[in-house]
Amino acid sequence: MRIPFVDLQAQYRSIQREIDDAMAAVIRDAAFIGTRENKYVRRFEEQFAGFLGAAHCIACANGTDAIELMLESIGVREGDEVIVPAHSWISTSEAVTAVRATPVFVDTLPGVFTIDPERIAERVTARTRAIIPVHLYGLPAEMDEILLVARRFGLRVLEDCAQAHGGTYRGRAVGTMGDAASFSFFPGKNLGAYGDAGAVVTGDAEIAERIRLVSNHGQVRKNVHACEGRNSRMDGLQAAVLLAKLPHLSQWTEQRIEHAQYYSSALADLPLQLPVVPQHSRHVFHIYSVLHDARERIGAELQQQDIATAVHYPNALPFLPPYAAGGQRGDYPFASATCRRQLSLPLYPEMTQEIQDTVIGALRRSLGATVKARA
Ligand SMILES: *Cc1c(COP(=O)(O)O)cnc(C)c1O
Repeated sequence: MRIPFVDLQAQYRSIQREIDDAMAAVIRDAAFIGTRENKYVRRFEEQFAGFLGAAHCIACANGTDAIELMLESIGVREGDEVIVPAHSWISTSEAVTAVRATPVFVDTLPGVFTIDPERIAERVTARTRAIIPVHLYGLPAEMDEILLVARRFGLRVLEDCAQAHGGTYRGRAVGTMGDAASFSFFPGKNLGAYGDAGAVVTGDAEIAERIRLVSNHGQVRKNVHACEGRNSRMDGLQAAVLLAKLPHLSQWTEQRIEHAQYYSSALADLPLQLPVVPQHSRHVFHIYSVLHDARERIGAELQQQDIATAVHYPNALPFLPPYAAGGQRGDYPFASATCRRQLSLPLYPEMTQEIQDTVIGALRRSLGATVKARA
């Protein structure tokens, strides 16, 4: 049995009629482009804002643009610094560079992988404008402490929620705690479109209006340009897919959590570091991440049995070529150790117990061999 890392085809089969009908309607209406008048895009914005309990949602082309649009909307520009975790997907820091500001990296917390709030203060300078916490793998960052440091230094907080749709921190939805929040609907994300798509949510009407303007060529209405903007709109087809999928998200999230719990109980006796979920957080398991020194060997052995795994990510951001040359201070011990030891197991809502048992069996054999070889 070949086991993929995620199975988007299984999800499509489970809701095929809804998706096909939704896409056919957009094509019939020729509602392809997410201009202000596109009813599919506007309806998705309303429903996603409602799902989170946020005042405003502005759809855009992808999750990376969403971060860039947030930064632009609060006036981050050349010469400014923005604090980001040392361990994330490159979009988080790339968006900072895209507005000509400088990403400043902060190490992550051991075990939970999100930014260490206690290390933020030491990286704040007179140029620091904002912090971008990332709810990595689906686990909310430690927002109360982050918001406290932000208040102390007068910084904005922009949440990167690309991996955490539906997560909660002390009962609050991820995406509603900072000044604004970005989401990605890349197909493999917990809520995924059938192509690139993203959104910003915010409680701040000014941020919302600025992003609405900038993401659509600065147009107030047809041929009236209040400013120069750009083209970062969500396609009508993507909005229709997301509208069809949104009502299923809560159930899919429950299934992810159940599968994660099943892995964690079946792997508890192995010499693997398993995901830690603080009492106050709802982890939505975009990624089920384990740590082990021999992750390369384990991944290769699983691959030989047709079981896909992944690494998120093999290098901490400060050590990627575009940043390494800048001579970032510090050595980011926890982010580095994570990147060296991290392995992501297959996890998706439609996964059966039989599939999970196959993964678990292969992992147990792989680790049993290690124990024997060492004895
Ligand atoms: C996926 C992702 C993004 C960017 O999303 P795209 O839609 O692919 O541009 C940003 N941040 C994180 C942490 C992500 O995982």
